[in-house]
Amino acid sequence: MKPRKTPLRMCVACRAMRPKAELLRLVAVEDKSLVYDGTGKRNGRGTYICRSLACMEAAVKMKRIPKALGQDISAELRRETEGPAGP
Ligand SMILES: [Zn+2]
Repeated sequence: MKPRKTPLRMCVACRAMRPKAELLRLVAVEDKSLVYDGTGKRNGRGTYICRSLACMEAAVKMKRIPKALGQDISAELRRETEGPAGP
């Protein structure tokens, strides 16, 4: 049996290492907007953040996201974090 390797990514806000699937991937696209990348396949500079509004707000407050991507966060994007958190 092969050991299953879970790729870890760091949350830009709380800096916790988590499995990729537990994080939201944010990508700065060409038209200078910041989008939530549900597929993980978009091109562009990306960063990862927990699926939690707390981390999203912390990232905005600390300006971690603009720092990481040179973009600001949209209200639309904030909505993505307001759904029920995974187990
Ligand atoms: Zn986090």
